Amino acid sequence: MDRITISNLEVFAYHGVLKEENALGQKFLVSAELYTDIQEAADGDDITKSINYASVCKTIEAFLKEHTYKLIETTADRLAVHLLKTYGRIEKIRLEIKKPWAPILMTLDTVSVIVERGWHQAYLGIGSNLGDKEANLNEAVRLLNEDEDCIVKQVSSFRITEPVGGVEQDDFLNGAVYVKTLKSAHALLQLIGKIEKALKRERIIHWGPRTIDLDILFYDDEVIQTKDLTIPHPEAANRRFVLDPMCDIAPWLRHPVLGDTMLQLKDKL
Ligand code: AMP
Repeated sequence: MDRITISNLEVFAYHGVLKEENALGQKFLVSAELYTDIQEAADGDDITKSINYASVCKTIEAFLKEHTYKLIETTADRLAVHLLKTYGRIEKIRLEIKKPWAPILMTLDTVSVIVERGWHQAYLGIGSNLGDKEANLNEAVRLLNEDEDCIVKQVSSFRITEPVGGVEQDDFLNGAVYVKTLKSAHALLQLIGKIEKALKRERIIHWGPRTIDLDILFYDDEVIQTKDLTIPHPEAANRRFVLDPMCDIAPWLRHPVLGDTMLQLKDKL
């Protein structure tokens, strides 16, 4: 991907573990690689379609002066997230913060921390078959979007589907949601757990009725298999109530294990 880079921007700020560092301040050097698609800006020779590096430098300076952290690890992490949220065109950032005056009573060029942070693309399945189902789904989407690390980009239409699993219960209303997120897959799992709790999900019978069910279907093209998380979701390729709404929002999306697109998987069902 294209990149805009900033090298060794000098900022005087007050980060450090020692109280002298917080009182006297010191020089920090910030380098950033901003991953972004510059084609549209290049085609139109138009700065409004790019990331204005002068503005990014001012934002970095303001952030480093307005906050005081003990660690450059924290400083770099928070600054990277702040830049990703401030400039929608940055997909990913590699940020280095150097401390040339690190007070260790020895001579060195610099110490530094490098972080890489970026937006992830996640697709979630949502379903409800208790209470006001449509209101439950809308509320789950609202709570997702309200999280400071998530932006809901697309929501499929909601479909009535018959329950699977043999338990006598009401029909489900199902949909799929495309979310851009700064969260790791596990952090996203925690968030959907919190949302399920907030919507008072009741889980009396396995496969039974529920006010809300949220599943991570896909997370980038990652394949994850841990005790509490399986991605892609094991049922993603076998369920019409997943593939129909996924075909609304991303029929071209390729299942990272099976290799078929959502549309191909639906046709195979
Ligand atoms: P259920 O609500 O019936 O879908 O089950 C939720 C449980 O499945 C949670 O305890 C999760 O740890 C586990 N789980 C495993 N993989 C996933 C996934 N991709 N999305 C959501 N939950 C998952």
